[in-house]
Amino acid sequence: MDLLDTLTAKGLRGEVPTREEALAVLATTDDELLDVVAAAGKVRRRWFGRRVKLNYLVNLKSGLCPEDCNYCSQRLGSKAEILKYTWLKPDQAADAARAGVAGGAKRVCLVASGRGPTDRDIDRVTDTMAAIKEADPAVEICVCLGLLSDNQAERLKAAGADAYNHNLNTSEATYGDITTTHTYADRVDTVQKAHGAGLSACSGLIAGMGESDEDLVDVVFALRELGSDSVPVNFLIPFEGTPLAKEWNLTPQRCLRILAMVRFVNPDTEVRIAGGREVHLRSMQPLGLHVANSIFLGDYLTSEGQAGQADLDMIKDAGFEVEGAGEATLPRHRADVAAAASGCGTTASSPCGTAASACGSGGGCGPCGGHGHAEPAADAPASEPVDELRDDLVKVRRRGAGTELAPNS
Ligand code: SF4
Repeated sequence: MDLLDTLTAKGLRGEVPTREEALAVLATTDDELLDVVAAAGKVRRRWFGRRVKLNYLVNLKSGLCPEDCNYCSQRLGSKAEILKYTWLKPDQAADAARAGVAGGAKRVCLVASGRGPTDRDIDRVTDTMAAIKEADPAVEICVCLGLLSDNQAERLKAAGADAYNHNLNTSEATYGDITTTHTYADRVDTVQKAHGAGLSACSGLIAGMGESDEDLVDVVFALRELGSDSVPVNFLIPFEGTPLAKEWNLTPQRCLRILAMVRFVNPDTEVRIAGGREVHLRSMQPLGLHVANSIFLGDYLTSEGQAGQADLDMIKDAGFEVEGAGEATLPRHRADVAAAASGCGTTASSPCGTAASACGSGGGCGPCGGHGHAEPAADAPASEPVDELRDDLVKVRRRGAGTELAPNS
């Protein structure tokens, strides 16, 4: 049985491939690309049908972060000309969230820059969640505030949060190359705190920071092991004014291979195409929908996405449908696992472990940047061209939250 038959058979059974098989997906050639997408598409349809979950980012606090994540436009010392503002008021955030939900989003992702929240920040977010849920009790809320201290995850859960986003971003071995102000272990600890409090864990990666294929496979297997219910796959947006501004290491073909590898390793997990979708997949975005079952609607934290209506048109034109508020995202067996992990032992239709509320993802400290002083992997496929510099595609967000202009939804 060849590689793709093996991966498809395993994925349809919900089994995880070997590390070597995952690496082999990244080494496939352009001639094999459509076969790779088709194989990953079979696995995607087995567990998620043709549904696309829409998520909407609200940047509660933008820029001026004391952390030094190389990929991030909000980092310490960033010269990127992004919007900078302090905490939105609850009604401002609720207005932004409402626009996203009206556009078709079932999940709102509340994100704030910073190392981690103070207890006062948790109060602010609690008030914001109350304002959002008052307007629409069915909306899922994912929170992303950085590293959590003891009891903060429990407070967010009690206040109505459904999920917490904290990305691992890259492999443990290379984590120190992208950030020095916190560690990979810190990030793992926060994902575990969130999961332990009964929040759905949303944790993903950033590709295109100069990492090797081995790094990508390492972080994707680590996310599977960590029990992430949702895996956002960010493609580095090389913002001018950040250390990785010149890192253009991705092609649409490479992005599709990465998405397929993530899908095979996480067959029954929500896989979300996150930041960098428009910049790197470009006209190949619809093929990405055959592999991933979730995207962000509209804009990202500090950069603009394509028009929300263009997202909806793309989904329809590609033969997919927007996942409704009443539909479960995760397959039932995954929702049950999530519920058991949170200690509530419920089924997919119960209040504290519903598939609709026990999945997730976000962008939090997420759909942003990249790293990139490493050399391209020596074993990269010969067909893998280095992407051209396309900084014309990076558009700093100037509308929506923190501005007087209407949000893109
Ligand atoms: S990723 Fe998050 S913690 Fe890191 S610099 Fe950006 S906002 Fe700060």
